[in-house]
Amino acid sequence: MLGLPATGVAPIRASEALRKKLAKLGLYNEADLLVHLPLRYEDETRITSLNRVFTGEPVQIEVVVLSNEVQYQPRRQMVVRAADEYGEITLRFFSFYPSQQAVLGVGSRIRAFGEVRGGFFGLEMVHPRFHQVTENQPLPVEMTPIYPSTAGLANSALQKLIARALVDGDLSETLPEVVRLRLKLPGLARSLHFLHKPPPDADLDTLHARNHPAWRRVKFDEVLAQQLSLRRAYLARREQGAPVLVAKDNLGARLLDSLPFGLTGAQLRAMAEIAGDLAQPYPMQRLLQGDVGAGKTIVAALAACQAISAGWQAAFMAPTEILAEQHYLKLKDWLAPLGVKVAWLSGSLKSKAKREQLAATAADAQLVIGTHALIQDGVDFARLGLAIIDEQHRFGVAQRLALRNKGNNPHQLMMSATPIPRTLAMSYYADLDVTVLDELPPGRTPIKTRLVADNRRQDVVGFVKKHVEEGRQAYWVCPLIEESEALQLQTAQDTYAALLVDLPELTAGLVHGRLKADEKQAVMAAFAAGEIDVLVATTVIEVGVDVPNASLMVIEHAERFGLSQLHQLRGRVGRGQYESSCVLIYAGPLGEIARQRLKIIFENTDGFEIARQDLQIRGPGEFVGARQSGVPLLRYADLEMDADLVEMAREVAEEMLTEHPALAEKHLQRWLGAREELLKS
Ligand code: ADP
Ligand code: MG
Repeated sequence: MLGLPATGVAPIRASEALRKKLAKLGLYNEADLLVHLPLRYEDETRITSLNRVFTGEPVQIEVVVLSNEVQYQPRRQMVVRAADEYGEITLRFFSFYPSQQAVLGVGSRIRAFGEVRGGFFGLEMVHPRFHQVTENQPLPVEMTPIYPSTAGLANSALQKLIARALVDGDLSETLPEVVRLRLKLPGLARSLHFLHKPPPDADLDTLHARNHPAWRRVKFDEVLAQQLSLRRAYLARREQGAPVLVAKDNLGARLLDSLPFGLTGAQLRAMAEIAGDLAQPYPMQRLLQGDVGAGKTIVAALAACQAISAGWQAAFMAPTEILAEQHYLKLKDWLAPLGVKVAWLSGSLKSKAKREQLAATAADAQLVIGTHALIQDGVDFARLGLAIIDEQHRFGVAQRLALRNKGNNPHQLMMSATPIPRTLAMSYYADLDVTVLDELPPGRTPIKTRLVADNRRQDVVGFVKKHVEEGRQAYWVCPLIEESEALQLQTAQDTYAALLVDLPELTAGLVHGRLKADEKQAVMAAFAAGEIDVLVATTVIEVGVDVPNASLMVIEHAERFGLSQLHQLRGRVGRGQYESSCVLIYAGPLGEIARQRLKIIFENTDGFEIARQDLQIRGPGEFVGARQSGVPLLRYADLEMDADLVEMAREVAEEMLTEHPALAEKHLQRWLGAREELLKS
């Protein structure tokens, strides 16, 4: 899965077959084994006698087998009767090997670990772990670690390998002693020993909750490895050269002059930061973050102007066709009158002729806008100086890398409207400089959000009617149906037809992903011009046009949408001077999570706050999307619970890279080994 073991790290001594299974768990070398930590523990340091067991509790018993038979009713099973001095119990196995039957022969003394059930026929254990023992065999003095495993790999095998690695593996400290003491973290060797083999008096609760100091130490090391890796990649990229983009004319100023609005303070600050980056001889690696509607596009356009003025090309990549197209229209509108050659690239490249035509476009234009079509083979930029990536979290590492490789190491500006909480940003964007647009342009009106159950749909129809009669326009967004695009289209068509019947006096329009680009554009233009009252849409309008007169957003099956998507959709209204509303129609009964999520969107308007709360109920996975896929950056640390560790690791990483480079290297080897290559984006 993740390539070959890194050199310089002791490989695992095991059979080929076993190594293959270990590789499935991402375990290639001794260091990997040492940080493969238990999911939980079982207490086999004690024996519970059969008169003292409580049902529902995992315990270890020591019994002698009285009988063993295979039954076929109601299904094939091995039924073992066994007893200690105080009582009898049935051990039941629905799958078993002949070797296990032998171990469980009559007269055998065994220790079994499992949960006791009180059945109709008395005490019972189903599929306990067991092994044969001699009378008075000493008990283990440590808890039994239960490791994450994979099919066909017994825990006992992992236990043996890891126990051996604890004895002959490299447990040397990679944190400088001063740092470790300052952070009040226990030593690594001690922590690992403790976590793999806790003594019988260890507090299992803090162990299982992973807030024991030993756990904190390991989590810190893990986060530190991530920070070291990302910061090192960041510094390495600064060593590479990039074109110095200094404007040779006043294109940017002319664009600003032509706008009907002035920039916000946040936009001005962002612009200044980016302008400074572009004038450096090494590539910019900046993320421009800002809530929906914060005005990122104009900031990107000004950056493009600087590249163009300096005699270079800029490329602007967006994740969907409709978003790319919207950018194209807007940027052409802004820049073509100023004499800039703006080109559009999209669709898959099929014919050779088309490929050549696109290649020519990319070679010739000053600003090329498109989808991932931009990074296909055959598209060659003559002088790419700046690569802009909108909604960057929706692209994978490989795609962003591909755009960078289209030019001679162009400057990179990434944009994201998914506000992510601070610690998450610190963790995942440690290899980027981040600029936040924390101010919305003036003149936005607050949006009133309502939640409506779908059996009151007719009320919503009435609400739309009243709204339109007041001279406003409305969006009606149809549910996201991930499983089927056809079904999604069908629903939109049905809704459209139903609205035509319910509201015959209004003009409705329908826009969806299957329409051709010019058809879509025509509908959008009609809506923008006020010729359409209600625009029924599939999720394509998530990134739709700006229509200040549209002040009502209806979203059906709101419970199926992601919170950031709802937030984005809602951000389509509230752009004019009219009071705006968003009606979220949901289909009950709602599950607990769905209910919580709708509550969040109902109660909050700030994208960052929504993201923060979303993170709490959902975990960080989706925020970072493709960046994370396949590369489990953090296995142990939890960005909410361990936020303080992230902050500490950030500082320590800087310190180690400059003052303790050898330790930093060793730390990375231990934690990332072969995996590190994959993190370099
Ligand atoms: P986002 O950050 O979501 O990409 P956009 O760049 O699409 O936001 O901007 C949203 C809308 O606000 C656009 O119509 C844009 O022209 C407008 N806008 C951007 N900056 C300002 C500003 N400073 N004052 C007024 N309107 C602005
Ligand atoms: Mg945008």
